[in-house]
Amino acid sequence: MVERCPECGAVMSYEISTKKYLCKSCGLYVTKEQILELREKAQTTSEKEKKKQRQNEVLSWWLSKK
Ligand SMILES: [Zn+2]
Repeated sequence: MVERCPECGAVMSYEISTKKYLCKSCGLYVTKEQILELREKAQTTSEKEKKKQRQNEVLSWWLSKK
């Protein structure tokens, strides 16, 4: 199952040994529970604003990856 980073929206890779998710984009290293917590917090901000922000961040991540 693919998890998306609550901070930047990038795809996170799961580490079976530690049961944690690592975001290769921003370096966030959290458990599944922490992802859900962060996601809940993020929902308090405007959904539209967040969506816009996420698109920009994903775009810049995508460009920096090349
Ligand atoms: Zn991230």
